[in-house]
Amino acid sequence: MSRPDAKGWCPSAYRPMESGDGLIVRLKPRFGRFTAWQFRQIGAYATQFGNGIIDITTRANLQMRGVSEAHYPALLEALRSDNIVHREPHYEQVNLLVSPAVSQDSQTQMIAEIIYGVCDQFKDLPAKFGFVIDTGYERQLHRASGDVRIERGYDDALLMRCDGVEAGLLTSLERLAKDLSELLNWFQEHSTAQNRRMKHLSQIVPDRWTIDKPDAPKADLPLPSDKADIIAAAYGQMKASGLAALTSGLSDDTAIYVLPNKSLMLTSGHFQKIDGYITSLEDPRLFIATCSGMPACGSAHINTHSLAEDIISEGCLPTGMQLHISACAKGCASAHPTDICITGHEDAFDIVEKGCAWQSASVKSLSRPALYGWLAQQK
Ligand code: SF4
Repeated sequence: MSRPDAKGWCPSAYRPMESGDGLIVRLKPRFGRFTAWQFRQIGAYATQFGNGIIDITTRANLQMRGVSEAHYPALLEALRSDNIVHREPHYEQVNLLVSPAVSQDSQTQMIAEIIYGVCDQFKDLPAKFGFVIDTGYERQLHRASGDVRIERGYDDALLMRCDGVEAGLLTSLERLAKDLSELLNWFQEHSTAQNRRMKHLSQIVPDRWTIDKPDAPKADLPLPSDKADIIAAAYGQMKASGLAALTSGLSDDTAIYVLPNKSLMLTSGHFQKIDGYITSLEDPRLFIATCSGMPACGSAHINTHSLAEDIISEGCLPTGMQLHISACAKGCASAHPTDICITGHEDAFDIVEKGCAWQSASVKSLSRPALYGWLAQQK
């Protein structure tokens, strides 16, 4: 079974998306980070103009939820004034992920500026098309969504690689704009309404862009630690009312990195420990991915967060397994297979083992008690 059609576009600050709880306004941290002061401002605006809930997405963006049409213009102006949202809308269209291993170095900033500059010439790229800067000595973003990856090649050269292809083209800061423009021109000539991502064209990428392999091994993203320099938002959601307390020990200009594993990272200092955040690898919430669910999403059949809490309190979370709870078959919380994927319907649950929410279920129509019993048997 194929994944149900997505809307085909992603919300941004300039193009909010209607959802079950109002407008979603997506904020894209330039160079992968906001300052602590910007974080506190985002929390204040989410309370003033939205419903006080902020998502961290798998593209390392923040989403303010529950914004009304009436409040949206004032919110946008406030975000622009604080330089949280760029005054040039085209910057906010670019999907750019930056590895936490390199997000503070100057080369990364130059690569990002080149990508923003080239994208100014390619304003009609598909809305979900994205770029990944992963030029560290480990590729921490190898699982993250992206169509063109800039990585580390042989002898510390830059490597430009298409998603879905193992090898790329060695390039340099001086040549990157030209190489990227040629690649994007080729993509636009060959993409179709059905094939709107680079991975769909991976079989026909010309040989000249598939010469050298990355010279950095794959690695995992940093995970929460009890030092509280890296914390994960439980189920990927933050309460705006807690952001001031969370960041209260940080000076205004402290950089807070947003990671695609729904975590926040500091390179100096630590967050205050408050409810709703994970600071230990033992925390069971770290093993459960959930989509927004009810009441936030209009397509949702279940409240995913409360089901996750119930599974934990019932003591039936299978040890060492990753769980994905989806409130419909679209499976927003994970595009990759998980050990156990639970998809909720109006009054029952289906289970896909080692798969995704849109795939055929091996166990169907379980009641809630039967679901707990089935999970307990997997321990
Ligand atoms: S997976 Fe969840 S968030 Fe995505 S559309 Fe379905 S109910 Fe909504």
